[in-house]
Amino acid sequence: MEIAILQADITTLPVDAIVNAANSSLLGGGGVDGAIHRAAGPKLLEACREIRRTTLPEGLPVSQAVSTPGFNLPAKWVIHTVGPNRHAGQTDPYLLESAFHNSLQEAVQLGARTIAFPAISGGVYGWDLEEVARIGVETVDRFESSLPEACPGCLETVTFALFSDKAERCFREALDRLN
Ligand code: ADP
Repeated sequence: MEIAILQADITTLPVDAIVNAANSSLLGGGGVDGAIHRAAGPKLLEACREIRRTTLPEGLPVSQAVSTPGFNLPAKWVIHTVGPNRHAGQTDPYLLESAFHNSLQEAVQLGARTIAFPAISGGVYGWDLEEVARIGVETVDRFESSLPEACPGCLETVTFALFSDKAERCFREALDRLN
């Protein structure tokens, strides 16, 4: 499996699945969540409302992941996860690790071969980008080690799509430290 670092708007990437750093309501927000809803079109909000009505009336808990189609996005699916909010006292790194891990697991269940992540919790939710990068990269690496060697249909490429120079630098450094 390849890990790629890109400075990019995640909504433009022609991958099988993009991950949304959503909030528990699933009803949209600012940052990458707002950008994904704008690019996917109103059907995405309808799909999220349907999930709330049927399976998640109280919203998506922190670290869990659910998927919808990508609608007008180049990506086939959107995997919505909720990162921990440091401003709400959610400072346990395991919560962020689980958000990455559960998104990867959802991708495998969907049969996605390519997936792109933003810097989950690295914006409004207030985590240091260095820490997001370390946890993101290490979680993907551990996930890869846990997959069977011959894994037809498994993930081939995990891309981190970073919005700023700083975020990109943090992820490159984290990946260098891993190798
Ligand atoms: P959170 O609430 O989980 O912190 P944010 O959306 O506030 O989520 O920020 C997460 C990261 O996503 C930030 O580093 C932000 O700069 C970045 N971001 C915002 N818009 C986009 C986009 N269109 N593509 C990729 N990353 C984005």
